[in-house]
Amino acid sequence: TNNTNTMEREQGVLIVLSGPSGVGKGTVCAALRKMNLDLVYSVSATTRAPREGEVDGINYFFKKREQFEHMIANDELLEYAEYDGNYYGTPRRFVEDTLKDGKNIILEIEVQGALKVKQKFPEGVFIFLLPPSLDELHNRITTRGTNSVESIRNRMSVAADEIRLIEHYDYAVVNDEVEKACDKIKSIVVAERCKQERI
Ligand code: 5GP
Repeated sequence: TNNTNTMEREQGVLIVLSGPSGVGKGTVCAALRKMNLDLVYSVSATTRAPREGEVDGINYFFKKREQFEHMIANDELLEYAEYDGNYYGTPRRFVEDTLKDGKNIILEIEVQGALKVKQKFPEGVFIFLLPPSLDELHNRITTRGTNSVESIRNRMSVAADEIRLIEHYDYAVVNDEVEKACDKIKSIVVAERCKQERI
């Protein structure tokens, strides 16, 4: 559909925002969504129950375990992971169509899933969200409530393992303040798009 008078659109940029549990990926991503960047958000499928205020098709596609396993069998997911007793996965078709359309898309997913996406899209842009320190991460996980001492210990040890995987990522963004982290991510998106800009 290209002709000499129109801008030739390259493929969109795939951006993956990841990082350890408790670092604030969800909060940062929600704040990014409000900034009206030139970004499409991938909505994941999950088997976990909706939290108050969450809407099917906006926050997640909420699925029964059986439905999710059907999606896996049908190769409908770009990646999936089991986290805290539930499945989470990225619908593949939407990501592929968005990129083909020349639009940029962002995935907010945990670390194992992000590494699987990297195998399929090595040209993607992988951003690792870091806590200011491990002490601060411990604070965040603790003050979030509901976690037992054992679960906090477990999450901290998983987080330490996850942070070691940072070498597979293109960028590290410290989430000290949500607004600052968003500004940095915005700069990354703008810079990455400039790499691909053509007329
Ligand atoms: P929550 O239950 O708090 O919404 O999400 C739990 C974890 O699952 C978070 O770390 C979140 O980033 C991750 N997550 C959300 N969607 C996906 C997905 O599609 N794939 C993977 N691998 N992780 C996801």
